[in-house]
Amino acid sequence: MIGPSKRQASSCENLNHRRANAPVAHCPQCGGVVNQSLRGASRCDDTTHLQVRRTFAAYCIHCGTQLIAPLR
Ligand SMILES: [Zn+2]
Ligand SMILES: [Zn+2]
Repeated sequence: MIGPSKRQASSCENLNHRRANAPVAHCPQCGGVVNQSLRGASRCDDTTHLQVRRTFAAYCIHCGTQLIAPLR
């Protein structure tokens, strides 16, 4: 599978990974898929991503696109 995240999901501590039914398709911290059934449920545009960015998510919770470059 080709995804936006090739980082190890195990290093992510976001609670969504532990939920059986996460309310979002992708983890906002690592971009990993947390709820397969929600993927593609909504289409993203710039406005959507602006709103997601305001929640301080590094990755879009809808499509997994990286919104904020990691601070290194
Ligand atoms: Zn994560
Ligand atoms: Zn998106």
